Amino acid sequence: MADFAKKQNRRVLTFLVRCFVLVIAATLALQILPWKRLAVILPSLSPFVAICSALAIRTLSVITLLAVPLFIMALWRGRWFCRNLCPVGFLSENIRRLRRPANPNFTKAPLIGQWVVLLTLGGAILGYPLFLLFDPLGIFNGFFQALCRPFSVSSMVYCLPLLIVLTINFVWVGLWCSHLCPLGAIQVMLFRLWGIFRHNILILYRQESPDNNKVLTARRDILALGTGILAAVTTRKLFRGRAMKPIRPPGAIDESNFTAVCIRCGNCTRACPAGIIEPDPGGYGVASFMTPTLRFENNYCQEDCNSCNEVCPSGAITGLSLAEKRKTTVGLAKVDMSICLLSEERECTVCVRICPYDAVKLAFSEEDYISIPKIDPDKCTGCGACEWVCPVSPKKAITIESVS
Ligand code: SF4
Ligand code: SF4
Repeated sequence: MADFAKKQNRRVLTFLVRCFVLVIAATLALQILPWKRLAVILPSLSPFVAICSALAIRTLSVITLLAVPLFIMALWRGRWFCRNLCPVGFLSENIRRLRRPANPNFTKAPLIGQWVVLLTLGGAILGYPLFLLFDPLGIFNGFFQALCRPFSVSSMVYCLPLLIVLTINFVWVGLWCSHLCPLGAIQVMLFRLWGIFRHNILILYRQESPDNNKVLTARRDILALGTGILAAVTTRKLFRGRAMKPIRPPGAIDESNFTAVCIRCGNCTRACPAGIIEPDPGGYGVASFMTPTLRFENNYCQEDCNSCNEVCPSGAITGLSLAEKRKTTVGLAKVDMSICLLSEERECTVCVRICPYDAVKLAFSEEDYISIPKIDPDKCTGCGACEWVCPVSPKKAITIESVS
């Protein structure tokens, strides 16, 4: 009886802790606290994101270190995080309680999550971690940050992944968590790896022969890693975007890796005080779908801001300081003299006056016998201020073009 009461108490305590964690996770994702930078925490806790992105961008940052506690926990206790803290797991568990019978048997279903992890790791070796965007913490983050945005198709699309995960777990009870989730899978794999390591130490110590099952599993893992490397090469070629490249936030890594390293968590979109970061609706190719791009219709990249660089958990945006960001070029302004008001001999110098980097000057054209705006490519960072203020519409006479 005392045991039963103890178990009940523990269950209630776990439930309360998980409710608390869910509220904290949602608060961080919503970026409603005064310290917007905290939004980086939730998606960065995932060892799946940390290991694959660090491999892909060949950098270990302070943000990568946020995944260390969960990494150690996985080595020691396997899926402890899933059972006790994961907000997606908690939501799924409570939704599937609505469904009976609640115990279907998936023991024979393939462990797709582990393949996803291995393929992504294989791709990360080549700088293209294929399925990083399936991380549940990134999915959770994307859902909540989209709730704060004005209603639009893109905010609905950001909400979709979490709804799909919850639907999978509701229809095929627990299938996502047990067989599909890459974060769950990497915890199992780390636990297994640690087990193999300990086993091998024992073999060496006791001079026993190795366990054939473990040797076979290791072979399968190596095969999946190799497939990941091949898949990364093919996918990068197949999904190569359109000839026209998007303008990415300052500090974004090379375009050929960006689309895979960005986990679509939406942190940068939400953090931008100018509201100029928009998810790509697919105009720059399939691989770029829902990745952040800069649009200058309503504002420009502020010279005193590096917010997007402070909140990216995957390293897709590299974390530039304000001074570094001010020297970073995202694009180059280009003038279309066929529609510029000066070509009609009308008065206009707004692009010259607004440029915070003093990169636009009026120069006299001997050819057309008029003054024209001249861009200094050494000074222009592509901040978009000139495009934003240009009064010509619908197509602006001065626009920012990608330099990547
Ligand atoms: S640096 Fe520019 S793009 Fe990034 S958040 Fe600030 S204003 Fe937005
Ligand atoms: S680039 Fe933006 S959406 Fe992509 S992972 Fe970084 S913060 Fe998230």
